[in-house]
Amino acid sequence: MALIVKKFGGSSVANAKRVFNVANTIIGDYKKGNDVVVVVSAQGDTTDDLIEKAKEINPDGPSKRELDMLLSAGEQMSIALLAMAIEKLGCPVISLLGWQAGFSTDSKHGIARIKKVDPERIKNEIAKRNIVIVAGFQGLNKYDDITTLGRGGSDTSAVAIAATMKADVCQIYTDVDGVYTADPRKVPDAKKLDAITYDEMLELATLGAQVLNNRSVEMAKKYNVELEVLSSLETKPGTIVKETVKMEKTLIRGVAKDTNVATVSVVGLEDTPGVAFKIFNKLAQKRINVDIILQSVGRDGTKDITFSVPKDDGKTAVESLEAMKDSLNFHKIALDESVAKVSIVGAGMESHPGVASKMFEALYDANINLRMISTSEIKISVLIDAECADRAVKAVHDKLID
Ligand code: ADP
Ligand code: ASP
Ligand code: MG
Repeated sequence: MALIVKKFGGSSVANAKRVFNVANTIIGDYKKGNDVVVVVSAQGDTTDDLIEKAKEINPDGPSKRELDMLLSAGEQMSIALLAMAIEKLGCPVISLLGWQAGFSTDSKHGIARIKKVDPERIKNEIAKRNIVIVAGFQGLNKYDDITTLGRGGSDTSAVAIAATMKADVCQIYTDVDGVYTADPRKVPDAKKLDAITYDEMLELATLGAQVLNNRSVEMAKKYNVELEVLSSLETKPGTIVKETVKMEKTLIRGVAKDTNVATVSVVGLEDTPGVAFKIFNKLAQKRINVDIILQSVGRDGTKDITFSVPKDDGKTAVESLEAMKDSLNFHKIALDESVAKVSIVGAGMESHPGVASKMFEALYDANINLRMISTSEIKISVLIDAECADRAVKAVHDKLID
């Protein structure tokens, strides 16, 4: 008998038929004598729809506390519906909200981090031979307020339960049958991977492959939780995410695209020491994550600094630097939201020169201009015009993944 944690994403429970399909999958494992804990996301586009409802009431953006109160309702609906389906099929089941399942988080509403999962209630329910259905994406802070974990956060809820309860298996069910070398909906030639390392998956997820939430991969690596990503619609093996993977011939594990990017250009700065410090210190105070940075020589002994940030932070970045215009002393500042980041990831790249040049050649052949470049041991990212992003992913995939 094993302890199995299963997570089903929004599309897997989007309507009644799919809810019953998921219920049957769960019951299959339960009837073999296993203990089953299930994490579910909100149905279909529920979370997006709730965000729109909030905007109808307050277009300037409601408080993050109230937004969390609203968004957590999406998962409350789906756990109840899934539990009702399992009940109807004749199996004992109970649904639990995040706080009932013991999820404590910090207080950063909208992007809270899990501090602890107290598994007592889940254990008690399992002892009664109940199937336990837990609302993903939510927890409770120290003030007893509901928090949410950030978009795609249910993956992390599942890994947290698997880590805390030392589950035998953690299965992430979704609407594709595994992790591919690129988004299979955008690149039809993308290949399914049998396995991928935590580090590679973490890079791919961070660089925009939404199939797994990056925090969930980070946590899986930390607590050594082996993950399987698989389809909720077909029964076949998925992709295993683990520490080491038998190296195949390919150097590149995957290509990812991120359109949640904007660039800020500060033009005509004084070319003196301390300017970069002033800019990035201010952004750090505002908790804005800066990604790629480019400094270039401007006119008449000045310099320009351009950097990329998540799109949602673009306006705040510009406003905070504009507020320092007198002390920073620059000519002008510009925000560009029409950019995207395309990246390649692969642990094999480290020891193989020439990968970057192949990537740049692919983009050159596709007549795509590079605005910024950044590299690390296992990834290369380029910033390009957003409208070229899908074409760029395809061109790079065609050239580097055979
Ligand atoms: P869920 O609702 O189950 O959490 P998501 O929409 O968050 O599902 O993630 C699944 C989607 O991720 C797929 O439909 C696919 O379009 C996208 N995706 C992006 N990159 C990849 C990749 N490299 N491999 C597989 N899927 C990917
Ligand atoms: N429902 C949340 C979202 O749409 C959490 C999740 O799907 O994992 O982001
Ligand atoms: Mg997801």
